[in-house]
Amino acid sequence: MAKTRQGKRDLDAYTISGTNKVVRAGDCVLMRPSDTDTAPYVALVEKIEADLRNSVRVRVRWYYRPEESVGGRRQFHGVKELFLSDHYDVQSAHTIEDRCTVHSFKNYTKLEDVGAEDYYCRFEYKTATGGFTPDRVAVYCKCEMPYNPDDLMVQCEGCKDWYHPACVNMTIEQAKQLDHFLCSNCSSGDDTKRSQNTFPVSPMANGKVRQLLVHFHMIKVGCLLCLLHSIWQYIFHMTH
Ligand SMILES: [Zn+2]
Ligand SMILES: [Zn+2]
Repeated sequence: MAKTRQGKRDLDAYTISGTNKVVRAGDCVLMRPSDTDTAPYVALVEKIEADLRNSVRVRVRWYYRPEESVGGRRQFHGVKELFLSDHYDVQSAHTIEDRCTVHSFKNYTKLEDVGAEDYYCRFEYKTATGGFTPDRVAVYCKCEMPYNPDDLMVQCEGCKDWYHPACVNMTIEQAKQLDHFLCSNCSSGDDTKRSQNTFPVSPMANGKVRQLLVHFHMIKVGCLLCLLHSIWQYIFHMTH
C-alpha cells in the first residue's frame, strides 16, 4: 500500500460490491455502462487506488468491441471478439459489475464451452488511426476471409484450405455430415492430391496471410455477403 501524492493509496485488490469476487491489477472486468441498453464495457485493470475518503478508483485500458472501431463489425469478427485499445481511463470501482476472461485467440478456439464471461482478443487497436496490430492475418476460403470462430468451416483434404459451407454451395447441415471434402479445384485434379487427414477442429495451423485493412478492399467476391459488402463499398466511394 504505497502512499502517493494527493493522498492517494494504491490498493492491491478491490472486492466487487455485493459479491466476494476480488479484482487485482491485470484482471479483466465488465463495467456498467451509463446506458442500460448497452452491453457492459470490458476493461483491463491497470491500477487500483483509494483517495482520502476511501473512494476507490481503477485505472483501466479499454477493450473495444468491433462495432466501436472505425472499420465497424465485419463478417469475420466473432461475437466475443474484443480489441485491446490504446484508450486509458480512470473509473469509479463501483462501476465494476463482474470479472471476465479475455483469452488469446488460440486458447479461445480450444475452449470446450464458451461462458458468458469468456471473450477473446487477437488484435490491438489504435483509436487515433483505426489501425490494428498485427495488421496481417491469415485468410481462408474462396472469399479470403480471416477465421471467425463462430462459423463452421470444412477443410479440403487436397489443398488443406478451409471453406465456408455456403461458399462451396453446401448447407451447414450437409457440411456437418461430411466425412471427406475436396474443394472444386482439388476434385477436378487427380487423386494423388488426396491425403488421409481427418478434419482438425479449427483452421489455426495454416492459411494464406493477407494485410488486414480497416475497410473492405481485401475482400474478393465469393460469399453473397462479401458481394454485398463490395457493392456497398463501391457506392460509398462513389458518393463520398
Ligand atoms: Zn467463404
Ligand atoms: Zn482443395
